[in-house]
Amino acid sequence: MSGPDHAVPDPVSAGFAELGLGPGLQQSVDELGLSTPTPVQAAAIPAALAGGDVLALAQTGSGKTLAFVLPILQQIEDAHRRGPASRAGAGARRPTRALVLAPTRELALQIGEAIRDASACLNAPLRWGCVFGGVSINAQMMGLRGGADVVVATPGRLLDLIDHNALSLDGVQTLVLDEADRLLDKGFEDELKRVLALLPARRQHLLFSATLAPEVEALAEQLLHDPTRIDVRAEAVSVPDIHQRAIQVDAAQRTPLLRHLIQTEGWRQVLVFVATRHACDMVALKLQRHGIRAAAFHADASQTARREVLQAFKAGELQVVVATDLAARGLHVEALPAVVNHDLPRSPDDHLHRIGRTARAGHSGVAVSFVNADNEAHFRLIEKRQGLRVPREQVPGFEMKQTAPTKPQPLRNPLTDPDGTGGIKGKRKSKKDKLREAAAAGGGTGSDPHAA
Ligand code: ADP
Ligand code: MG
Repeated sequence: MSGPDHAVPDPVSAGFAELGLGPGLQQSVDELGLSTPTPVQAAAIPAALAGGDVLALAQTGSGKTLAFVLPILQQIEDAHRRGPASRAGAGARRPTRALVLAPTRELALQIGEAIRDASACLNAPLRWGCVFGGVSINAQMMGLRGGADVVVATPGRLLDLIDHNALSLDGVQTLVLDEADRLLDKGFEDELKRVLALLPARRQHLLFSATLAPEVEALAEQLLHDPTRIDVRAEAVSVPDIHQRAIQVDAAQRTPLLRHLIQTEGWRQVLVFVATRHACDMVALKLQRHGIRAAAFHADASQTARREVLQAFKAGELQVVVATDLAARGLHVEALPAVVNHDLPRSPDDHLHRIGRTARAGHSGVAVSFVNADNEAHFRLIEKRQGLRVPREQVPGFEMKQTAPTKPQPLRNPLTDPDGTGGIKGKRKSKKDKLREAAAAGGGTGSDPHAA
């Protein structure tokens, strides 16, 4: 992003006004207290407004949501201004012009809130809907009755609503994939295929993510037509200020160490990642027993419970949330100071998404990973992928005693079986388990026990 003639406005000097947004959106942005576009916004907003496909890669917490929300709202406002001629006949359902897909219900909701805030100052009222599994489909069907200009959805519930004739994708001009690499991976393959088949052939694609594995990149390229590629992952302004730490500790001592850190590090709040839903419940329970305000967050909980936990966490009423990778993507908790990897994630990309829950939007944060003899090799892989080396520490009273791996190492594939320290024997996720989780996270497929 250096060189004299790049087309991107200088993010330091350019305000939102220079990006081609109308007065309504400018005012909304102003009322949100945002004065300067982030690098991904400065690059993606004009490119999306120009109508072409965009593939944008930018760090966690760098403002990707508004980078797609603002241009799609502007396009809808422009279409409305062009008048009813471009709309369906009187009495007809308002066509959905933009569809935003997100991999989890919570992320869909968060994007919906961004649309609500960003559209607050628009002249003509904009209709938007946010739909996801795990809650009654009836209210969502009612909500969509008059049509919605923008729909934010998890793929499973979207398809359910289409099956119920509550929604048509015939008029969609722009498709957004937030956390694009997650939506393009195996867990969503079938649902995404079905959605794509229902969209008009001529449409704009906007893909956003903080990571893009090479296999997924190939898929993205198939979907896109001559895209504007934006990669500001290395932009100085957007690199999150995450202080990474790796603490060596025996598997059995991890939860006591976690408790110790919570008590001694002065973390106002902490998001703890573990490998399984069962481990979430166990770790949360152990913390609660010691008087720590903690709760579990995973795909087996009801949507009401998931919502309550997240709300309480965002409101500061909970100090600790213990989560699976369900919480790794996209979730924004204002000024979250710390993330702990009690168990390491399977993929290095997931590690980046997890730690990216802290140090968002200009804040700093700390990310602690617990390493031991069994997952040391996997952590090295994570370090290598991020191009860094995190010094190993030990905490007095919790020193690691076990120096050789307990598991038969040669049979282990670090990519599919990273740490083997889920902590809970026999609870490691199978492929089927993972698919189920992906389906539940996406919301509303037949395999999701909480859907509809
Ligand atoms: P990402 O999707 O890249 O992880 P988000 O879109 O969730 O990041 O944004 C993270 C936070 O940054 C949000 O609280 C958002 O309101 C804030 N934010 C977005 N754009 C700006 C901006 N231009 N200036 C300051 N803060 C911003
Ligand atoms: Mg995001």
